[in-house]
Amino acid sequence: MLPEEIAEARLKRYNGTVAYLRKPHSDLMVIRIKPDFPRPPHRAGQYCSLGLGNWEPRFPGAQPDNLKPGDESKLVRRAYSISCSMLDESDNIVDVASTDFVEFYITLVREGSDPTKPPALTPRLFMLREGDRLSIGEKITGHYNLEHVKPTDNVIFLGTGTGEAPHNYMTWELLKNGHQGKVLQACCVRLKKDLAYIDTHQRLMAKFPNYKYMALTTREADTLTHKVYIQDLISSGQLESTIGVPLDPASTHVFLCGNPKMIGVPEKNKETGERTYPQPLGVIEILERRGFIVDNNAAKIKGNIHFEEYW
Ligand SMILES: Cc1cc2nc3c(=O)[nH]c(=O)nc-3n(C[C@H](O)[C@H](O)[C@H](O)COP(=O)(O)OP(=O)(O)OC[C@H]3O[C@@H](n4cnc5c(N)ncnc54)[C@H](O)[C@@H]3O)c2cc1C
Repeated sequence: MLPEEIAEARLKRYNGTVAYLRKPHSDLMVIRIKPDFPRPPHRAGQYCSLGLGNWEPRFPGAQPDNLKPGDESKLVRRAYSISCSMLDESDNIVDVASTDFVEFYITLVREGSDPTKPPALTPRLFMLREGDRLSIGEKITGHYNLEHVKPTDNVIFLGTGTGEAPHNYMTWELLKNGHQGKVLQACCVRLKKDLAYIDTHQRLMAKFPNYKYMALTTREADTLTHKVYIQDLISSGQLESTIGVPLDPASTHVFLCGNPKMIGVPEKNKETGERTYPQPLGVIEILERRGFIVDNNAAKIKGNIHFEEYW
């Protein structure tokens, strides 16, 4: 595309501005987008789309694109959960209503898991700087939220990588509302530097006695020989001892977000209705064996396991 065509496409297709950008390292970012339109009403835990034109440059070293003729002028969109910084500089709970941006927590995918499908959006998102423009969806949606959580329920958020994003926003909502039950977040990443909000979680723990955060790393030198994945955390009883109460389905909601392998959604045979759990063992199988039920909006089943798969 010619430079003037690109300038015109940006003008026509983009409706948001990068208001703030923080990169804990080259492949991880917390980004705030100020939409040109009033921020739509939404619930903590929901998501919206972000998009950039295929004409935008890609992150150096990321797998090259294999665009077909005509693709260059198209916009590529992906879903992103809304995150939240939870505390302000004075350690007060953030007043989200007084802000005009939407916060996201995004990891760079350098290569597609299928080599014929290079990642389309993140290599472009990671070229953005403050002040740059992009497309943001006008609809914020999703069933992954606190709708069925009662004020005295214990709430457990289990995530991998940036799967922490909706959990941060829901944690904010619970703590802001003086949640009476216990709240625990655990997040599994390769290295400690992959936890962009870890300082905030520590400050939250100091401020709210009912809040606990567990950081699990799999590639840090001190954890290499005894890696703990989210699944192990539950099976070993470590999760219950940290939260300080038994995992009781009658009073606990569990939220799972990120890598589908950690979540382990069972496959349902359309004819027989029989469900088969995936291998390796996922959290849903562990929890169902302990009496938990998966929330299923389509089947109108109000469960206490809620999940959001990122791919
Ligand atoms: C409801 C929903 C909410 C999401 N929220 C977030 C979010 O808050 N933050 C975020 O980083 N991503 C999130 N994602 C994933 C996001 O939509 C994109 O898929 C991702 O950013 C990669 O986009 P891409 O175009 O670069 O690569 P794609 O072509 O979309 O993905 C290529 C491959 O990258 C891998 N991948 C995708 N997402 C991730 C990830 N987050 N971490 C590691 N590997 C990944 C998968 O193997 C996938 O097949 C969400 C997805 C959904 C469905």
